[in-house]
Formats: sequence, C-alpha cells, structure tokens
Amino acid sequence: MITPTQERRLVLYLSRVASASLPVALFLIFAAPGLAAPAPPRVYTLASGSPQGVYFPLAQGIAAVAHKAGVEIRVLPSEGSKQNLGWLADGRVDLALTQSDVASDAYGGRGGFARPLSSLRVIAPLYTEAVHILIHRPLYIHRLEDLRGKRVAVGPAGSGTEANATQLLAAAGLTLSEVDARHLSIEDAMASLRQGQVDAAFVTSGIPSAVVKGVLADGSASLFEPDRDLLDRLRETCPFFLNKNIEASDYPRLNEEVTTAGVQALLVGRSNLSAAIVDRLVRALSASKELTARYALTGESASASDTGIPTFEPAQRFFAVQALLRRQKLLAGIILGALVLAFVVLRFQRGIWRLLRRAEFLRVGIYFSTLWITGSIALYLTEHRVNENYSNFWKSMWSGLITIYSLSSKEPLTLEGRVIGIIIFLLGLAGIVWLTERLASFYLEKKILPLLRGGFARMHKMKDHYVVVGWNKKGPGMLAQLHNDDLDQNRLIVILAKEGQADHLESHGLIQVERGERASEADLKRVHVQAAHAVIILAESDEASEDAKTILSILAVRKICSGPGSQKPVAVIAEIFDPGNVELASFAGNDKSIALEIVSAHKVGEGLLSHTAVHPGLSKVYHQLLAFSKGHSEIHRTRVPMEFDGKTFDALVASTVEQRLSGTYVLPIAIQRGSEVYINPTPTAQRKGKRKPEDKDAEVPWLLQKGDYLFAICDSPKDLKELYHPSPRGLLQKLIPAREEAE
Ligand code: GLU
Repeated sequence: MITPTQERRLVLYLSRVASASLPVALFLIFAAPGLAAPAPPRVYTLASGSPQGVYFPLAQGIAAVAHKAGVEIRVLPSEGSKQNLGWLADGRVDLALTQSDVASDAYGGRGGFARPLSSLRVIAPLYTEAVHILIHRPLYIHRLEDLRGKRVAVGPAGSGTEANATQLLAAAGLTLSEVDARHLSIEDAMASLRQGQVDAAFVTSGIPSAVVKGVLADGSASLFEPDRDLLDRLRETCPFFLNKNIEASDYPRLNEEVTTAGVQALLVGRSNLSAAIVDRLVRALSASKELTARYALTGESASASDTGIPTFEPAQRFFAVQALLRRQKLLAGIILGALVLAFVVLRFQRGIWRLLRRAEFLRVGIYFSTLWITGSIALYLTEHRVNENYSNFWKSMWSGLITIYSLSSKEPLTLEGRVIGIIIFLLGLAGIVWLTERLASFYLEKKILPLLRGGFARMHKMKDHYVVVGWNKKGPGMLAQLHNDDLDQNRLIVILAKEGQADHLESHGLIQVERGERASEADLKRVHVQAAHAVIILAESDEASEDAKTILSILAVRKICSGPGSQKPVAVIAEIFDPGNVELASFAGNDKSIALEIVSAHKVGEGLLSHTAVHPGLSKVYHQLLAFSKGHSEIHRTRVPMEFDGKTFDALVASTVEQRLSGTYVLPIAIQRGSEVYINPTPTAQRKGKRKPEDKDAEVPWLLQKGDYLFAICDSPKDLKELYHPSPRGLLQKLIPAREEAE
C-alpha cells in the first residue's frame, strides 16, 4: 500500500521526467491510488445526552439516516450540551448535539469554557428546547424567587440544563449557592421529585420529554410558568433565548398553555470536518420525513446564525437554497392568487361592486381578513426570531387573529411587534364597533322599527301608509302580499272597516284596524287618506249594488285630498264589479287631487279567459306576475333614470339587458306617462296626418321624457333601485366602467 507521503514523492519524481513520458506519469498519478486496497470507512463519533433524554434517541436517528447516506456515525451517551462541547474541543468526538446558548458560550470562551472553541461550526439547527421547571406537588411557588433555600435538581454537571437553571435563577436574583442545588441525572431528578426528596427540578429538553411526561402524569409534579418579565430579562442577557410555548396537549394534566424559556438545539462539528460529509449529513437529515416529524425539525438557519457561530459553508448553501425555494413557492402562490383575484375582479367587476354595495357584511368580512393577513405578516417579520408564537407564517396567522381580539395571550415581545399589535388591536376594535353597529341597525330596521311603527302608529301621524277601505274575501291575501319580504319596505296598513267586518283582524305590528264607515268623510280623515301611499277601496259584498257605495267612497276621498295641505295626487285603487259602472267611477275620480285606477274583476276575468283560450298557459304567466315573492319576478315600477331622457325605449332596454350579464335580471316592459301606459313602445311612432306612411319624415322616434315611469319585470323593487338609481357611491363605481367603455 502506498502511503500519502510516498505518493507525493512519486508524483514529484515523475513530474521531473514528465517531459519525457507524460502519458505514463498521468496514468500513474490517477491510477496509482486506485491500485491500493480500499481503506475501511471512517466512523464519526457523535456526543448526545442521557438515554432518558431526547438527544440520545435523536442522535441514533441521525446515525441511522446518515448510514443510508454512506456516513457511519457512532453515538456516545453523555451528560449533555456542555460535556459534548468539551469532548468536541478535546477532539474526542467529531460531532455533537448542543443547545445554542451553551454553544455560544463555548465559541466565545465564556460560561466555564476556558478557551474559545473558534473552530466550532453549525451543521444544522434542529428544534426548540423548552426549559421545563417542575415543582414537587403539593408545594406551590408563586415566583421563581420562592425557590430560595429549596432543594433544586439543576441537571447533571456538564449539562445544558444546569446552564439554564443557573441563568433562570440568576434572572430571578438567585445564585446556585442560594438554593440547595443537586446535580442529578434526569432519571434521578425525576425519582427524587416523586419521593419528595427535591422541591423542584429543571429539565431543558425537546417537547414532549418522556420523563417529564411521567412525573406530570402521576401527579408528583406540576409545571411552573415563569413570569414574562423574567423571560424578558433573560433575553436581555442572552438574546437568543426565546419564549417557548408548551401546549396543554403536550403533557398530561396541563390545563393551559405554559410559556417558558426556549433555546435552539443544534448539530455541530469542528471546521476540519470535510465539506462532503457535512453536505451528505444535511441532505440526509432534511430528507428524513420521520425525523423531521418526530422531532419537529425546523431546518431554518436564521435562528442558528443568531448565536454568532458560523454555519458550515455547504450547510449554509443548502439552507439558503431551501429558504429560496420556500420563498419562491410562497411568491408563486401570492402571484397566482393575485392573478386569479385580478381576473375575477376584472371579469365580474360590476357584479362584484353590486354585491359589495349590497352586502355590507361582506365588506366587514373583507376588512377583517385584510387586517388579519397584513397584521400577521407584519408581526411575523418583527417577532419570528424571539417569539415561538410567530416563528412561522401559519403560527403568526393564528397569533395575529388572537391579537385582533385581545392583546394578552399571544402578546408580541419586540417593541415594533408591540406597536403593530396595538394598531391591529385598535383596528380590530374599530371593526367590531362597525360590525356591531351594522348588526344593530339591521335588527332595528328589520325587527324593531316595524314593531314600533305599528305600536306607536296611533300616537304618530299616519304617513305613506296603505289605507284599505272596506273589507271582503280578497282582504287577507292582499295584506299578505303587501307585507311580503320581496318588497323593500313594509308599510303600515290601516284598515277602515265596519263593526262586524274583519272581526278576526286585530291591530298588531304594521296592521291597524279602525272601525268606521267607508263613505264617511270623518272616518276617512281619521285614517289620513290624504297622506297615504295608496288607498284601496274594496267592495263589501259580491253584489253589483256595492259599486254605488264604492263611488261614494271615491268622492269622499277626493274631497279630503283636494283640501288644503295635500301636495301630490294620492293613488286610489277602486274595485268595481259591474263593467258598466267603470266609466261612472272614473268620472267620480276625475280630479288632479287623486290618481284613480279602477280594477274591475269582471274585465280582468274576461280578458284572462279569452287570452288563455288563445294561448293556453297564459293565465299562469299572469298569476305569477301577480304574486309578490322572493326569488321570482313580478312587475315593479321606478322612475326612468335621468340619463335616458330624450333616448329611445330601446336604448333603455339595451342597457338593461347588458346588465343581465353581470347578474341583475331586470326586463323593461312598459312606460307610464301621466295616466297613460305604453307597453313595449316601438322605436318610432307614425305621425298622424296627411303624409304617406312611406315618407321617411313621417317617422318620429318615440323618446322617453322627464317624469316617465318604467314598469319592469324583476324580483324586487330593490333590483330596480340599484340598477337605475344607485347611491352616489354606486354611481361613481358605475361611471368607472362606463368611461372604460368610452375609450
Ligand atoms: N438540552 C439538554 C442538555 O444539554 C439535553 C436534552 C436531552 O437530552 O434531550 O443538557
């Protein structure tokens, strides 16, 4: 076998004769080592911890995955971090598991390390360990200071636990000599807790620790939560300490989450370790799903770099690439999400604006989710290094949500984080006030006001109400229709009926029954016909002789309405039985103080029967159009919007039909001008007179005018209002797409 020294000499010799026989030299240089017998694989030693702890089984897991990657590792049990680093410094081991705080001491030559171990390098950050402070039951301590003079198991000499116990007690103002410190192995410490031979025990380890589980399960100890100020002080002395949560689900008999000090567990080595080995180790470790899951391995190098210890070059490169990939995935996700959002917004612009205008609760929802997401991102950026609650994006989302409602349990630790937390909290509060106000006004509008309107109607002036004069079998169905959910406003209905009529009806909510004569001026005045939205005069029996009384009623209403104090004509709808009386009734109502409409059941029936005979099925169309109900269409009326003054009916139809694409289903059918109604008016009207029809000038376009009303088929009057008469804000939003179209 050729030793490396012999090999070097050979190369030197050959290079002298190289000019003569270069090919031979090359063959010897490259093939000679191959001719030698293979060296046995090198076995690397890894210092771990107590077989009862988490380090030891983790180290075995690392050895197993490394073996598969062609790196042989022998695991050595130890007392813990401090001893491991001592061994690493001595050259007794090649690799070690350690806590970040102890490693930082070793690297800097502090905390019991005589010389700085400047060749120390991080291979991989592993997980966050928690400093468990176990108190013997039934002893109760309020503050850590209360441990003064008590028997405390502080971990074996040379462990990281001992270092943490010392630091935490120091933060509480105690030195190790001020407590009765016992250096016990984890196992002995737990046995002593059980037997009451110690009052407290410190254990720094990953969560959950099997031994800690044992003493909590059998009730021999409870888990102590150090106060936040103490943790803040601790971070001031050692900045890489963080606040670590132990969840109630991590251990038995834990009622709530316990926040304690946390340190990072690291896999370390010396700088002379070959890059190839480090690379293989890092890859094998992060590829092992089992280890990653069981020990919640983080694979993030940021937390390790905080300790000031350099990371091995190949490991650093590997983690940087991983982080880049993660960031790229996140970025791709964000871009994709933004594109989808942009597409949806552009494609359904009008529908979305309309939905947003209508659905106030959706707006509240959008406000809260925006606050939540941006707040959580800001908190992640400021907190993730020191605060377990914000250590990754998803945890930040959860903690951010809690910050919106309260500042307490997931409180930020950094100054910037606290400022952001307060802002989020205040904005959250504002959101809640908004939501409450919306809910209250929704409830007030839908439930309380109608009750009040009904209940207090007697005390208040009746206004914009319906007056039903007289009563017959059509009455109940009519009330139901007028108080249908489909209408945007349910008005007070005042019924003027004789004693003995409509006996089952009682005043309640928005219905008020007044007793009186239908043709009596005094009684009609009492129900404020002059201020009504509409007056409906019903016949009191099915006889044609009733028409005379109906006409008297019309005259009485007309007289009241033409009196002083009434401005616009009051809509009066009268039911007339005998078609022969329709003209007389119209004559009785022919006055500008009222807008009379006669409904003749006979006439309607006649038309319906004959039309349906011609087009079977047609009666169903009319029946449906005549019933107000949510989710299907009836005929509603609105003013023709200003922008259509002077335009054709077709222009109105075209613009309306276009809206159907974005989800507003309105179908214009007729225009009302004064007392006339034009159904489906044609774009041109023949001018009557001498000119011949084929003369082009004879055709004048039929144009809409100011004051025209539109009848349209749609589900609810709200649809019409939103489409043609939106609020100023809505109008603005409507204008934006309109301008785009113009371009
Ligand atoms: N962090 C502990 C120490 O260094 C060891 C924890 C364990 O073995 O799981 O003392």
